[in-house]
Amino acid sequence: MKYFSRFHNRSRNLRPPDLYEYFVDNFWYKTAGMENQKINEPLRGSHKADIVIIGGGFTGLSAAYNIRKKFPEKTIVLLEGAFCGYGASGRNGGFCIATALLDWDQKDPERRQKDLAVSSYGLDQIKMMISDHGVNCDFAENGMLAVAMNEKQVDELEEYREELNRFGLESTLVQGKDLEAEIKSPLFVAGLKEPHGAILNPAKLAREMKRVVEEVGVEVRERTVVTRIRPGQINHVDTELGVIHAPTLVIAMNAYAHKLGFFKNRVFPVSVYQVATEPLSRAQWESIGWGNRQGLSDLRTLFSYSAPTADGRIVMGGSDFVYYDHDALSSGNDKTVTHRVIDNLFAFFPQLEGLQIDHAWGGTTAYTLGRNPSVGVIGDYQNIFYGTGFNEGVPSTQTAGRIIADLMAGESNDFTDHVMVNRKIPYAGPKNLRGIFGRGVRWMMENLGYSPIH
Ligand SMILES: Cc1cc2nc3c(=O)[nH]c(=O)nc-3n(C[C@H](O)[C@H](O)[C@H](O)COP(=O)(O)OP(=O)(O)OC[C@H]3O[C@@H](n4cnc5c(N)ncnc54)[C@H](O)[C@@H]3O)c2cc1C
Repeated sequence: MKYFSRFHNRSRNLRPPDLYEYFVDNFWYKTAGMENQKINEPLRGSHKADIVIIGGGFTGLSAAYNIRKKFPEKTIVLLEGAFCGYGASGRNGGFCIATALLDWDQKDPERRQKDLAVSSYGLDQIKMMISDHGVNCDFAENGMLAVAMNEKQVDELEEYREELNRFGLESTLVQGKDLEAEIKSPLFVAGLKEPHGAILNPAKLAREMKRVVEEVGVEVRERTVVTRIRPGQINHVDTELGVIHAPTLVIAMNAYAHKLGFFKNRVFPVSVYQVATEPLSRAQWESIGWGNRQGLSDLRTLFSYSAPTADGRIVMGGSDFVYYDHDALSSGNDKTVTHRVIDNLFAFFPQLEGLQIDHAWGGTTAYTLGRNPSVGVIGDYQNIFYGTGFNEGVPSTQTAGRIIADLMAGESNDFTDHVMVNRKIPYAGPKNLRGIFGRGVRWMMENLGYSPIH
């Protein structure tokens, strides 16, 4: 079982270090009314279940939903250390890019169509949550707008347009007046309008998905930090206040899994930061355009992404993707990176000078060499299912949950055949050298404009 280190975290009831920070000034939590939401009781005492899911982000919640559909008779318990949506799922940019799981190197046209169906599934599942379960997450299927800031990037946009075309996806390159009709920035020279994609409020989606999985009969325990997992035919999961035994486990901890010894030195945490402005006035919106309200991102390696919110603000993030030494998690705040994000915002839109920044926060997402996620099953008894390595995962983690359920049911289909299923995650080198390596990569990204790792 090479993705699990048995000797990690041997002492009982030891909280994985650095797991939870004290305070996150997350705009999405505010809009989801987190201060007034009920956080479920922790697991106390000794319990049994058929299936235990660890992690209450999109991967865990989607797995819970899909497993319940396939196994209505089984007892399923989801354990979340803080509250559902506490991790990257409740903090991200809300970009839902339907093409995230496409295999761009795929040559076979039939295979490409299957890939597209799997890749689009995440977005479709969110739409199904909205239509069938009344999920409210400020979902807006406005598409994406990728912008170029120089001629080289215009060529990259053109190449990207052709790649999308090979998957049968239409997109439009806009310049001059057509670009201005989409967005007004002195830095942008071209844009690619992609209709496939949406923006949403991720914390609302996570909290609503918690409601849905409870409604379909999954037991959700929050404030339940798992301190140790002892795998076996029956897996023993120690928590701070209890223990639960189950023949089947799902590891849905993405960037946090290494703290319990899973995917160590393969999946490592990278921190990303975001800001939310105050609401813009009508005149300020007119000065930047953006009437179609797409998710906007640029093509630099240390790119920024931004989107309008339902209440007329701009949320912007990116500009840097930070690796903290020894796989430390995000503190939730990093002043230096936050300032970079703000500088980017006003460089894109100098006409907004004076606009206040109301919130700044960050979170931890997972990184792998190659930037590829993996979903599959491990363990001597092949009874530990997982989804990990989601660097960008808003729609892909929804798909991951479906794949986990299909694998558990022993199905063989386009989902279980996808290239990310049981994908080998490359060794990322020793943890104590990763910081130095990470800084080298970052220097190359900034100064040479490319990264050797993706
Ligand atoms: C700031 C930021 C911006 C992003 N922007 C985008 C974007 O716009 N679009 C996009 O597609 N992706 C984006 N991402 C990435 C995306 O959010 C993640 O890929 C995705 O949410 C991962 O979901 P997950 O459920 O696998 O992990 P998470 O949401 O991180 O969930 C893991 C959960 O496990 C819990 N946990 C961890 N350890 C334990 C333990 N020991 N015991 C119990 N529970 C535990 C955590 O509390 C957490 O809730 C962004 C990420 C960040 C941080």
